[in-house]
Amino acid sequence: MPIRFFNTYSRELEEFRPRDPNGRRIDIYTCGPTVYSRAHIGNFRAYIFEDLLQRHLELRGYKVHRVMNITDVDDKTIRGAREAKIPLREFTAPFKQAFFQDIERLRIKRADNFPAATDQQYIDRMVAMISTLIARGLAYQAEDKSVYFRINRFPDYGKLAHFDLTQLQSTGRVKHDEYDKEHIGDFALWKAWDEEDGDVGWESPWGRGRPGWHIECSAMATALLGDQIDIHCGGVDNIFPHHEAEIAQSEGCTGKKFVRYWLHCAHLLVDGQKMSKSLGNFYTLADVLEKGYTGREIRYALMRVHYRAPLNFTWDGMEEARQSLSRIDDWLTRLREIAATKSDPPQADKIDIQPGEQFAEALDDDLNISAALGFLFETIRETNRAMDANELKPATARAWLDWWSRVNKVLAVTRGIHVTPFLTVWSGDLPKDIKELASTRANARLAKDFRKSDELRDKLNALGWEIRDTKDGQRLTRRAGA
Ligand SMILES: [Zn+2]
Repeated sequence: MPIRFFNTYSRELEEFRPRDPNGRRIDIYTCGPTVYSRAHIGNFRAYIFEDLLQRHLELRGYKVHRVMNITDVDDKTIRGAREAKIPLREFTAPFKQAFFQDIERLRIKRADNFPAATDQQYIDRMVAMISTLIARGLAYQAEDKSVYFRINRFPDYGKLAHFDLTQLQSTGRVKHDEYDKEHIGDFALWKAWDEEDGDVGWESPWGRGRPGWHIECSAMATALLGDQIDIHCGGVDNIFPHHEAEIAQSEGCTGKKFVRYWLHCAHLLVDGQKMSKSLGNFYTLADVLEKGYTGREIRYALMRVHYRAPLNFTWDGMEEARQSLSRIDDWLTRLREIAATKSDPPQADKIDIQPGEQFAEALDDDLNISAALGFLFETIRETNRAMDANELKPATARAWLDWWSRVNKVLAVTRGIHVTPFLTVWSGDLPKDIKELASTRANARLAKDFRKSDELRDKLNALGWEIRDTKDGQRLTRRAGA
């Protein structure tokens, strides 16, 4: 069965065909966090869906190259830094670090690149793209000195969201700073500096200012993955205007179709309601961990509902996730015991249960996780019944354990410490305190907080450990005699 995905652009299930002529390499771009606060569990639902997508494609033999951007300059980060009376970079650094720690707890694979919007090379690219758009008549500088995209000149604008452009004109309320625009739907590519921006700003052909959020993603996506991308993901909130704008900007510059498959993850509700701080049902990962749940339990709870269906987060649901995982743990323990025995039981294999492809095939079908998990638990029931009746051969138990090791590459939920190989490489056992320091340092490096990274290196050196930074992560070795 071919892999199929529901493409938001066509609103249809489509057979997945990568751009790579050899059919093996897949480029994925995923919109990442805006680092002005801790990410909430609704954000993590989307990141876990993207992780499931990547892991399943890898299980199917594809080589995935994934980029996730970090938005570290926008209205919210600037406001946060101003209120905290610290420079923008200083304000966003701890949230970047917390984000990397959180995804590690949730066993989310790291993207190959985490570009940050404030990186000068990307700012330069944003300026270059905006210049191209102006030259092509697709953008203009308004009286307020900001530069806007001219949506009337891009006929496909609205196609992703299936949005009728005329609806935009009937919007009643207009914010004061939007009077300068030609059309209410025109969105900012470059925002002219104003007092509230403080020391945040870059020079450009249109004067001092900063990029709009949408152009950040277009610039970073095309810089790292080229003009055309296989899959672009995000939450449904991102469809309009963010992804619609990404298409207009990217295609306006390159003249090529930007994305082949758009995949969007539905909302997360808490107790059936929209999550919001005012309702007191707003949870970060830390909030859920504090209640005594583990990273893998939270991962499972956020993963087990099909990505296009709303997920209702409840504490009962967390208990169910815990029970489901303990059923898996118990099942594996029993299988391992039987796999280790030498002779077949007298009543062996009266029933026919052998691993098949049903789990992976369910995921081929637009990542149907509910069907895949349904098959997993049916398997557990049947093999448990066979084990109760002393009818499961050691060879069959081993076959199911092998099958599980493939399944778990996608689910990543088995008990025990889960080490992201990218993070830290070492030989032998690493003491707990050293591991913690190394992990913090790896996160500091990802967040490009090199001062902190150097401090941690000195600390580790003082404790007798040598560190070498390699392309796979940091390699730790114990100094002789230490
Ligand atoms: Zn984006």
